[in-house]
Amino acid sequence: MYNSNSKKTQFKKGNHFGRKIKKGQKLALGYKHSKEHNRKISEAERGEKGHNWQGGKSFEPYSIDWTDTLRQSIRERDHYICQLCNKPQCNRLHSVHHIDYDKKNCCPENLITLCVSCNFKVNFNREKWINYFKKPKGDPETKPS
Ligand SMILES: [Zn+2]
Repeated sequence: MYNSNSKKTQFKKGNHFGRKIKKGQKLALGYKHSKEHNRKISEAERGEKGHNWQGGKSFEPYSIDWTDTLRQSIRERDHYICQLCNKPQCNRLHSVHHIDYDKKNCCPENLITLCVSCNFKVNFNREKWINYFKKPKGDPETKPS
């Protein structure tokens, strides 16, 4: 029992020693590598930041300002009523529509609350809807049929 234990300990010690040397060698080798690696990481981080900022914009159809908070504030402004059919918001959240269909144009004047079915409707006759919504309160004469 005692012998085998001490053998084990010796083996462990030897193994550990061997590892130590290997580790040291790797460390020495890895120093240059890690220096370069660090540089690469910092470059990648810088690149990534730029990527997140601009790439996020190009991949994501909505601009950075397009948040739930913004949409919520538009719904609130429109009293949670569809600005086309006057349907109040019920279980399903009303959509917030971009009047000029430019999803990057997130100024409140370009945003309007629509129920889901009206939001679907305005995907057709776009030019007419733009004219309609751009008139104050929506001129019924320009309302597309
Ligand atoms: Zn509606």
